Amino acid sequence: MNLADLQSAVGLRTPIRHQLFIGGRFLNAESGATLATLNPHDNSVIADVAMAGRADVDKAVTAARRALPAWRRLSGAERGRILMRLADLIEKNSEDLALLESLDTGHPLRDSRNLDVPRTASCFRYFGGMADKLHGDVVPVDAGFLNYVQREPLGVVGQIVPWNFPLMFTSWKMGPALAAGNCVVLKPSEITPLSALKIAELLSEAGLPDGVVNVLPGLGSEAGQAISEHPDISKVSFTGSTATGRRIVNASSGNLKKLQLELGGKGANIVFEDADLAAAVNGSAWAIFHNQGQACIAGSRLMLHERIADAFLDKFVSLARSIKLGNPLDASTEMGPLTSSLHRDRVLSYVDIARSEGGELVMGGHPPRAEELSRGCYVEPTVVRARSWRDRVAQEEVFGPFVTVLTFKDDAEALEIANGTDYALGSGLWTTNLRRAHQMAQALEAGMVWINSYKRVSPGSPFGGFGQSGYGRDMGFEAMREYTQVKSVWVNVDAQIPPWYPR
Ligand code: NAD
Repeated sequence: MNLADLQSAVGLRTPIRHQLFIGGRFLNAESGATLATLNPHDNSVIADVAMAGRADVDKAVTAARRALPAWRRLSGAERGRILMRLADLIEKNSEDLALLESLDTGHPLRDSRNLDVPRTASCFRYFGGMADKLHGDVVPVDAGFLNYVQREPLGVVGQIVPWNFPLMFTSWKMGPALAAGNCVVLKPSEITPLSALKIAELLSEAGLPDGVVNVLPGLGSEAGQAISEHPDISKVSFTGSTATGRRIVNASSGNLKKLQLELGGKGANIVFEDADLAAAVNGSAWAIFHNQGQACIAGSRLMLHERIADAFLDKFVSLARSIKLGNPLDASTEMGPLTSSLHRDRVLSYVDIARSEGGELVMGGHPPRAEELSRGCYVEPTVVRARSWRDRVAQEEVFGPFVTVLTFKDDAEALEIANGTDYALGSGLWTTNLRRAHQMAQALEAGMVWINSYKRVSPGSPFGGFGQSGYGRDMGFEAMREYTQVKSVWVNVDAQIPPWYPR
């Protein structure tokens, strides 16, 4: 099917963008390279997308550097107004954005409509509102001196995002960077480039000056590596796997780039014996099965108090069996395909790992049997009871609809297991005991903790982890700080300094 036919078949009212966005224009790659982006429902080609190489990264950085002086001189209020207009345009184009995201990633349309698109708009609006609130400090120093500390933009920043929430992450990265006065070169994942390109188009429509934002789909090993090494890029903000994060640390050393790394996770979701079980069952299913488990903060270790474990698991499995798998573009679908076949195969390989470790496969562990899903990247919700919390299935990030069940006997053991991984991103707990809830929240090693809920995010609340989950924060005021550098200015107002060299 050609692109125009596909657009009308899907119901898109605006064109699918598939070229690089550099200096305010959509362009082919210098090399002419393209890569097909696929619909994970049936692996059909959506579009051949231009793939940036080193020459395109250079071109984008040049465009961004040219745009920087005027952009950083604009008042915060004016920069904020453009971000607010973008948020309005996202809402105006919400159906197209939702369809595009579902087509390219496999997110069920109900999630793209109700979560991805509104969260993207609200993130841009939040940072639009913050753009004129980034003030500095006046510091009390020696008599006769005025000392003020101001926050300045870093310059041109590189942003590298993964395929699991490409639209939302574009706003998490661009929102604070632009509000703080930086110019951006953003590389979406080669697997899901379409929604970031659409945001580029809407940014132009919102009045963003050419060159302030450049969007470069491309391979990690080429465009991603070139961004990480580039001498004129001051910072890289990266979301992706811990292994790639390490490569970026090495590649960035040439000009001592500032880095922000949002990496993997193995979220502990702890259900105590006094929890509201109905809420915990539903919330725990959401924690792992939303977006087919492709979330760094997924509650992928379901930790159950031994007294309630069997009863909880019965209810959990029966809920998981009822989740409706299907074409993401069908509004009644509750779980779509994984985003690529390569990734589906990786997820399924953990079923063999579980078996080899003596784990019990409670349900799933295979693609669905339905004929209409046979060409896609689907995996049934999968529940595994591990023998030990030290097993690979309880330690490694599977990043799919695959939950590892563990049991514990008391709070101390729950904490030992929860903190017993190299990751430290998000954890949750379910209890009606207030003291226990707060004590656990203090003791859990994680950048985010949810009590009697899971996976809540908001543009105002900092998002990120510790340890092998990375450093730095997306969102909140923290993110604005991450995109600035501090300058301390000393003014001699009327200080009487005796001469150092009296003559
Ligand atoms: P990935 O690391 O393979 O790729 C992420 C991005 O990095 C892609 O754009 C890719 O093209 C690029 N990349 C790959 N190699 C590169 C290189 N050498 N130099 C520069 N860029 C390179 O990750 P993925 O498979 O796309 O995403 C899944 C991972 O992302 C999971 O580990 C997940 O936990 C993590 N993630 C983390 C967060 C968080 O906020 N902590 C959020 C979402 C996803």
